[in-house]
Amino acid sequence: MSAGDGLPPLSKVMASHGLSAKKSLGQNFLFDLNLTRKIARGAGDLSQCAVLEVGPGPGGLTRALLMEGAKHVTVIEKDARCLPILEEISAAYPDQLNLVEGDALKIDEAALPAHPTKVVANLPYNVGTALLVKWLTPNEWLPWWQSLTLMFQREVAERIVAAPGAKAYGRLAVLSQWRARPTILFDVPASAFVPPPKVTSSVVHIEPLPEPENAPRRTSLERVTAAAFGQRRKMLRAALKSLTPQAEALLEATGIAPTSRAEEVDVAGFCRLAKAFEDA
Ligand code: SAM
Repeated sequence: MSAGDGLPPLSKVMASHGLSAKKSLGQNFLFDLNLTRKIARGAGDLSQCAVLEVGPGPGGLTRALLMEGAKHVTVIEKDARCLPILEEISAAYPDQLNLVEGDALKIDEAALPAHPTKVVANLPYNVGTALLVKWLTPNEWLPWWQSLTLMFQREVAERIVAAPGAKAYGRLAVLSQWRARPTILFDVPASAFVPPPKVTSSVVHIEPLPEPENAPRRTSLERVTAAAFGQRRKMLRAALKSLTPQAEALLEATGIAPTSRAEEVDVAGFCRLAKAFEDA
C-alpha cells in the first residue's frame, strides 16, 4: 500500500534498497509519515518558501515536507547510499527536490541555488549542536533562514530554551536566545526511530529576532559567556578574571552583582556585559 504520496512505505523502500542504519552517521530514521508530517507542520506554511533539509536519509521527512506543500526542498545528505532513494522521490515531485551530496557542516547554505528560507531537519545527533551553532552565527543578521525546525535529543533542546536559574542554562541558551526565540514544540519517544536511540528527542522551533539595541559583537558575547560558564560555580568577579583584570568594575557598571554566578544572569545582562567588555 502506498503511503499517501504514491510512493511505497519507508520500511519497504529500505528493504528494496538493502539500506541499514549506520551509527557513525547518526542514523536513526523515522518511518511514520504521520509523525514526519507533524514535524513539517511545525515549520508553519511551507508553500511560499524554499526549505532546506539536512540529513534526509531515506526521505521520511522529505516526503512529509512535500506532502505538506513545500514549494521547493533542497536536501543535503552525506551518505551516498541514500541518493538513489531520494532520486525516486525527486521523480515523483518533478522540479521540486534538489539533491546535494555532501557534509552540511562544510556547505554555505546561503549560496545554494534555490535560496532556502526554512530549515527543517531530524539532525544527526553527533553534529546537531555544531550545525545549530553554525546557523546561529552567520556573517550577517538577520540570517538567511526564516526559521529552524529541528529535532534534538531532549537534553540538548532543554539547553537551547533554558531560562536563567535552570541547570540547563548556559552558553547554548544565551547564543540561541540573544537574537532569536526558541521553543520546544513536542517530544518524540525513542520508540519512534529505527533503530531507537537511548533517549527521548524533542522538536525545537527557532525564529530570528532583530538584533537587540546596542548589541555586542557576537564574538564578545561568546568570550564573555565562555569565561562565565567555564567556571559556573564561581562568582562572576572571579570567573571573569581570566578575561579581564577589570571584571569587577565591568560587572558593577552593567548593574550585575559581582558576587552573582553565571546562571543567575539573564540574556540581556550578558549582552550588556559583553558590550561593556568590548567598549573597555
Ligand atoms: N531525515 C531522516 C529521517 O528523519 O528519517 C534521517 C535522519 S538521521 C537522524 C540523520 C541523517 O543525517 C542521516 O541520513 C545521515 O546520513 C545524515 N548525516 C549525518 N551527518 C551528516 C552531515 N554532516 N551532513 C549531511 N548529512 C549528514
